[in-house]
Amino acid sequence: MDLQTLWQSFLDIVYPTDIRCLICNAKREEMSGYGICKICESHLPFIEPPVCTKCGKMMIEESLCLDCQQSDHAFYRGISIFEFNAEVRRLIHRYKYKQEKYLSTPMIHWMSEGLKVYKWEFDLIVPVPLHPIRERKRGFNQADLLARGLSKSTGVPLVNQGLLRIKNTPQQAKLSKEQRQRNLRDAFIISERAKSLKTFHNKTILLVDDVYTTGSTANQCASELLAGGADRVYVITLATGSNF
Ligand SMILES: [Zn+2]
Ligand SMILES: [Zn+2]
Repeated sequence: MDLQTLWQSFLDIVYPTDIRCLICNAKREEMSGYGICKICESHLPFIEPPVCTKCGKMMIEESLCLDCQQSDHAFYRGISIFEFNAEVRRLIHRYKYKQEKYLSTPMIHWMSEGLKVYKWEFDLIVPVPLHPIRERKRGFNQADLLARGLSKSTGVPLVNQGLLRIKNTPQQAKLSKEQRQRNLRDAFIISERAKSLKTFHNKTILLVDDVYTTGSTANQCASELLAGGADRVYVITLATGSNF
């Protein structure tokens, strides 16, 4: 091995050049520390102000979106990192259904950065729970993995056994807003243990999920947490729709 090759292999260890971007799969010079190249990242539909002051959807001017005007959400405020375009849909699909759990690394990074902007203060981080049957089938709860990462990055404790999903509701995606709401009624409860320990009493909570659609899920979870004694519930999701 000549000196040049030796030097190159040393550089490869210190500055690996064979890391592939998790989105485009290309080897790129300009990689972020969380597995996405700068080019792919620059194409992602980051939500920027102005946003809906309630749910965080992108708006033309800062105000309440139509959806938030029409329905009274139990959560205090929500934010989302991306608009739900085809690229983001693909990314979430790979993460959720193709077992590509490592995609949680960039997702957690983006969500942590989003939280920094809003400077919310909260005492506990709670993922939107999956029904145990669905979780067994999928192998993991995508919201739980994101919530764990956010707990690590913020230092705020995670509580992932306090809010439970007791109804194995059908997939929400294809249902109308009314159907979603009916579907989700009584789907979530506070665990007996969390009740007796007063886990949520007087606590400000950050609720975590992957996708925000009409807000029905976030709303039902927030209602249950408030009924369980919580003071206030914030919501963060990775992606949100923009056209309703
Ligand atoms: Zn890329
Ligand atoms: Zn809104």
